[in-house]
Amino acid sequence: MKTPLILDIKGNSLDDGHGIRTVIFLKGCSMRCCWCHNPESQAPEAELSVSPKDCIGCGDCRAVCPTGAASPGHVDREACQKCFRCAQVCPARAYRIMGQERAMEEIVERCLSDKAFYDASGGGVTLSGGEPALYPDWCAALAEQLRAKGIFVLLETAGNVPYDALSQMLPPLDAVYYDIKLMDPVLHRRYCGADNGRILDNFRKLRQDAAEGRVALLPRTPLIPGVTDTEENLAAIAEFYRENGVRRCELLPYNPTWTGKAAALGREVPYELQRHTTPQDGEKLRRCREIFLRAGIEC
Ligand code: SF4
Ligand code: SF4
Repeated sequence: MKTPLILDIKGNSLDDGHGIRTVIFLKGCSMRCCWCHNPESQAPEAELSVSPKDCIGCGDCRAVCPTGAASPGHVDREACQKCFRCAQVCPARAYRIMGQERAMEEIVERCLSDKAFYDASGGGVTLSGGEPALYPDWCAALAEQLRAKGIFVLLETAGNVPYDALSQMLPPLDAVYYDIKLMDPVLHRRYCGADNGRILDNFRKLRQDAAEGRVALLPRTPLIPGVTDTEENLAAIAEFYRENGVRRCELLPYNPTWTGKAAALGREVPYELQRHTTPQDGEKLRRCREIFLRAGIEC
């Protein structure tokens, strides 16, 4: 069984499914969306994140670094050997390790500690990432254990995996939230780093599974200014949904906080997104929703 590193386990979430949820973020993704809200989740291996604004200037990182790469609030990534000693000593968590091994039993126990919140709110556990479907055996085994304890499990996926991986995960899952970002294959390759053919094919198959009652399916589109929130792209997505019998979808307003995380990992923000620092305003969101409503799709 391929086992993921865990980026984070976040309790009391109201954003990733119904009710109060515990979200388990896995490392590793088959896409490279340039606006990724969790850029630290893309690589499957552990990474070093450095946040200069959190540094208190104690110099502990420099004292333990064997290569001279670490200095207060700054890392020389060329020289860094990823030993993570800096992150182990940094008292301010300005240096942090992104991705750690966690035993499945420990994760189940962690989720069980929140069960009263799930029961009171209709919530549960969300598997997120990265791309959880890169680890179908591990996710299915975890979801089975949680289901056996009466916990509702939801998968968030971008769908860029072999269909068998999605299909084998369905039995213990209650719902799948499925991202559809761009219909134009050229734009999809440019902004997401992967072709969208398999993603759309998998969605058609999952729709069939949903129609036969095997899982609840909710497609979602992140609204990225000038990229996914254009009239042309949203109309094409609405038409795709209409052809596939979708009645409801979700639009996710732009969240610009990803730029700070990308900078902490030493990644560049694409030029065309640098000037967008706020979510879409109410009027823009209304116009985006109208495109789907005109196609008979609630959102
Ligand atoms: S150990 Fe952390 S807080 Fe101290 S100087 Fe280094 S980055 Fe700053
Ligand atoms: S991970 Fe190791 S080599 Fe890299 S900056 Fe930190 S202490 Fe230095």
